[in-house]
Amino acid sequence: MDPKDLNVTRGKLIHQGKANNVYETDHDEYLELEASDRISAGNGAKTDVISGKGVANNTISKAIFTKLDELGVKNHYVCPGSNECSKIVLKTEPILLEVIGRYFATGSYLKRYPETPDMMPFVPMFIEFTEKDDARNDPPILAEDVVQQGILDGFELDKIQKATRQIGEALKDFFAQCGGKLIDFKVEFGRLPDGTIILIDEISPDTCRILDANTGDVLDKDRFRKDMGNIAEAYTEMMNRVNNMDQ
Ligand code: 5GP
Repeated sequence: MDPKDLNVTRGKLIHQGKANNVYETDHDEYLELEASDRISAGNGAKTDVISGKGVANNTISKAIFTKLDELGVKNHYVCPGSNECSKIVLKTEPILLEVIGRYFATGSYLKRYPETPDMMPFVPMFIEFTEKDDARNDPPILAEDVVQQGILDGFELDKIQKATRQIGEALKDFFAQCGGKLIDFKVEFGRLPDGTIILIDEISPDTCRILDANTGDVLDKDRFRKDMGNIAEAYTEMMNRVNNMDQ
């Protein structure tokens, strides 16, 4: 859809997150989500600005949300926003949960279970949850406690687990088509006013680990987390691959 057809106008900034800015719009049901060049790791312990990251993440996110919609995964993406870093999205009540899908063991999984061989494959994909709570460093939470704590009911938990598996398979195919190998990813969900749960936030090299399928080069935020350099180049490379995929 063309934003001009919707006639949406950006309003005031209502939230500045670690990487994204959220604006209200003149339509009650829509927000404008802008990917910034800000980058952070370790719950904000380390921050920087990477020129070109916002446009790369927004381009990649829009392409992925469009693909997921075609596959029947309901998500908040409506149309491009007022600039190349932004998109119009449906307004939801965010569910304070991060859902992580792992195809290979790395990152925080290895920190918690250091005896696990690096990059040990998970078959089927392994799902875990963390609470979305910066003050408590997004602590892991058991699926059972997600229900016990009233974050989701059992039916919703089941739906989110199934959606995350479908999203994982779609992301694996998507990144394979641009010469990448998906290692793990994080997704978030929100509730529409009628209670329907949909996929929200962004899906980008900030929220996924992706290696070059041939060389093993790191094409995601681990370049920043691990001080590997060439951060802007990796995001731009992913964006170019996604743009070429569209042709
Ligand atoms: P880990 O738990 O190993 O640090 O991360 C697993 C996957 O989820 C990685 O792809 C990572 O980028 C993503 N992830 C986990 N937590 C967050 C978060 O708070 N913010 C972002 N952007 N990604 C996260």
